[in-house]
Amino acid sequence: MMLGRFAAAMIFLAAMMNTMCQADDHRLLVLEGSWVKWGKPQWGSGAIVSFAFASHPQTSPSARNCSSLLPFDELVRRTGLPQRQVWSEAAMAFASWAQVTGLTFVETKDPARADIVIGAQGNPTGRAFTNVELDAGPVAQTAATERGFAISAEPPRGTGPQGLRSIRKALICFNPLTRWKIGFDGKLDVYDLRYTLTHEIGHAIGLDHPGVAGALMDFRYDEKHKSLTKGDVEAAQRLYGTGAR
Ligand SMILES: [Zn+2]
Repeated sequence: MMLGRFAAAMIFLAAMMNTMCQADDHRLLVLEGSWVKWGKPQWGSGAIVSFAFASHPQTSPSARNCSSLLPFDELVRRTGLPQRQVWSEAAMAFASWAQVTGLTFVETKDPARADIVIGAQGNPTGRAFTNVELDAGPVAQTAATERGFAISAEPPRGTGPQGLRSIRKALICFNPLTRWKIGFDGKLDVYDLRYTLTHEIGHAIGLDHPGVAGALMDFRYDEKHKSLTKGDVEAAQRLYGTGAR
């Protein structure tokens, strides 16, 4: 009888974990059967994450997304958007996550040493993608959706995520041949750069698309809100804490 009760308790706990981490309004990325985050594999712990803009062409043969990266300047050049404004929008995208979590983002000029590298796609497709690689074991990949955002691989059938693993490297790539804009204008066929980068950074720090519409992490692009929603913030805080100092 004890065994039966124990098993029931375990199932209940597993169900609770599932509910906590995959509530309708947010969902965490599951790769190779684990939740993933930067820094210590410990819930609610902050991390310092470096990022760089690709300055030379680079290839990552094992990456499913963003395997060929061109300098981010390629996007600036092709879109004709003012470079200074593009950098400023990118800084605000990182800041939006850092302001509400224990994450600190530090820019580095050396993409080879950066945790997150942002560039233009060498093989342009879709809109923007993210590739997340875990610290140990085989390379983890995020599968692409038709809309061009990235989505996690499904966890193994019949089993829930098995703990938390650390992210080793993330790549974010933008299609330089598609049109981009700065600011909302109600035309949903051209994506706002900051909104899209904030969304991709969300994937790069361990977030997946939520089960309901409305969040910035929703796979559907809309212009109803420019900043993170409650669900986005809750998801990031589960991984990195509130950053209360
Ligand atoms: Zn996405």
